[in-house]
Amino acid sequence: MKIIERPSPNQAARPDGATVDLLVLHYTELPLKESLEILSDDKREKRVSAHYVLAEDGAAYRLVPEDRVAWHAGQSYWRGREALNATSIGIEIVNLHGDRHDYPPRQIAALIELCRAILARHPAIVPQNVVGHSDVAPRRKIDPGLRFPWKVLADAGIGLWPKANATPIDGDIQQALQRVGYAPPGALAPEEMVEAFQRRFRPARVDGVADRETRALLAGLLDRVGAGA
Ligand SMILES: [Zn+2]
Repeated sequence: MKIIERPSPNQAARPDGATVDLLVLHYTELPLKESLEILSDDKREKRVSAHYVLAEDGAAYRLVPEDRVAWHAGQSYWRGREALNATSIGIEIVNLHGDRHDYPPRQIAALIELCRAILARHPAIVPQNVVGHSDVAPRRKIDPGLRFPWKVLADAGIGLWPKANATPIDGDIQQALQRVGYAPPGALAPEEMVEAFQRRFRPARVDGVADRETRALLAGLLDRVGAGA
């Protein structure tokens, strides 16, 4: 795919020995032009950036090279690690509508192409490590939102989707969520963790209640994780 180089000053060296093993997906809630401006503004008090910005028409802009750190995840946690900018790649997907409209098909097609290229370059990004900002910063962030087609991406080999019709998981839901990668018990209230999970895997009802369907989805997801994904 065609990549448009649009370098941002908001970047840093990767720490010595860092392996890129996480892909974080975001939405901008702003139009393309404003998104590119903010993600390249070095005068802001809190400077932000991403490796890529993906326009609604599918055009991909590269702001930060993949071997450098971009500032997209902020305070974050996944699978026992924090401050995930050091080891991750971030894609900002232009989306003005939050949870109100689906993502355009051509934008998703371009996203799949971009993600596949990134995964091919970074084999340490296993499917379990393709996440949304809301997965790694659940109290602060809700992007890429309830309309993000996680199953479409999983079917294309990008990230995980739960096995269907799993037997609902018993016992402590937070410990099970932690096995997926979510923050451990104590970091967040139990219902906040369940909401983060539902936001991605059961967007039709995000209520923080660990009901039977939520527990079945979690069991189905752990089955995929357990399969070495
Ligand atoms: Zn974000």
